[in-house]
Amino acid sequence: MQDFIDPLCVSALNTPAAEASGAVFLRVMKDALFGPVGGSDLLLPRVDLGRLFPEAAVAWLQARGAVLHLGQRITHLSAHIPPATTSDIKWRINHDAEFDAVIWAAYQSNLHLPLDSEYKDAIDFDIYKAIHHWQTRNHALPTRAIATVYTWCEGHTQALLPRAMTALASNAQQPAQFVFDRAYLGGPAGLLAWVVSASEGDSATLERQVIAQAQSQLGLAVRALKTVVEKRATFACVPGLQRPSMHIAPHLWAAGDHISGPYPATLEGAIRNGWAAGGCLGR
Ligand SMILES: Cc1cc2nc3c(=O)[nH]c(=O)nc-3n(C[C@H](O)[C@H](O)[C@H](O)COP(=O)(O)OP(=O)(O)OC[C@H]3O[C@@H](n4cnc5c(N)ncnc54)[C@H](O)[C@@H]3O)c2cc1C
Repeated sequence: MQDFIDPLCVSALNTPAAEASGAVFLRVMKDALFGPVGGSDLLLPRVDLGRLFPEAAVAWLQARGAVLHLGQRITHLSAHIPPATTSDIKWRINHDAEFDAVIWAAYQSNLHLPLDSEYKDAIDFDIYKAIHHWQTRNHALPTRAIATVYTWCEGHTQALLPRAMTALASNAQQPAQFVFDRAYLGGPAGLLAWVVSASEGDSATLERQVIAQAQSQLGLAVRALKTVVEKRATFACVPGLQRPSMHIAPHLWAAGDHISGPYPATLEGAIRNGWAAGGCLGR
C-alpha cells in the first residue's frame, strides 16, 4: 500500500487512497494495465503544456477555417427563446454574438455561469431551473490542492538525478510524492520540481519540508526558488461523487475534467469529455 498503491492513487486521483473512490481507481488501473497497447506508458512532455495541446489545437482549427477569439473572458451568457418553443433557442455571449449552441468548457472552480440579471424573469423557468440545478451540483464538488516546489542546486552542469522522474517515499512530514529533474525536460541543470498531490500545507511549510526531504532521501542540498500551490487544482475523487452532467440546458453543454465521466480529473478525462460534448452539438 505505502510504496505502490498510495503514491499511484494520490497522483492519478489527487486524493489519498484512504479517501479515494475505489471504483475510479480500479478503472484507471484496468484501462492502464489491461487496455490497448501503450495505455500504461508514462508520457512526460519536453515542451510546456501550452505548446503541447492548446497551441496545436489552435493551429489545427485555423487550418480548417475556424474563427477563434482568444484571450476573451466570458462574463455573460444568456438564452433567447422564441415564445412557446425551445427548438430555436440561441445563446448570447457577452451581450454580443449569438450562437446556436455553446459548450461551456471552463474549469469548475471558476465556474459561475454568468447569467443576466433579468434572465430569471425573462425566460423559460424550466431552463433557469436546469441551469441552477447544474450550477449547484458543480459548486458542491469538493476540491483538493496540488503544490509544486521548485528548488535549485548550485554549481551543476548536468542532471542531478539518474532519470527525469523519481518516486519518493512520502508522508505528512515528507510531502512530495515525485520529483522531476528539469534538466531532462528542457530546463537548466540544477532545477528540480517537487510535486505534492493532495497538498495541505502552506508554501513556507512545504518548502521547509521539501528541503529536508531532498536532504534525507536523495542527499541533495537544495534551496527553494518558488512554490506554486493550486488550491483547487482538481475535484476530490471520493466515493459516491455526484458530478455535473454534460447536458446543462437546451443547446448548452459542458465539458471539462469535472463533468460526469469514468475518469478522475486528468487530461484524459477532460479530452474524453470534450470529444463527447462535441458529438452532442448536432443534436
Ligand atoms: C499542478 C497540476 C498538475 C497536474 N498534473 C496532471 C498530470 O500530470 N496529468 C494529468 O492528466 N492531469 C494533470 N492535472 C490535471 C489537468 O491539468 C486537468 O485535468 C485539465 O487541465 C482539465 O482540463 P479542462 O479543459 O477541464 O480545464 P482547464 O485546463 O482548467 O481549462 C479551462 C479553461 O477555461 C478558461 N476559462 C475559465 N473561465 C473562463 C471564462 N469565464 N471565460 C473564458 N475562459 C475561461 C481557463 O482560463 C482555462 O484555460 C494537473 C493539474 C494541476 C493543477
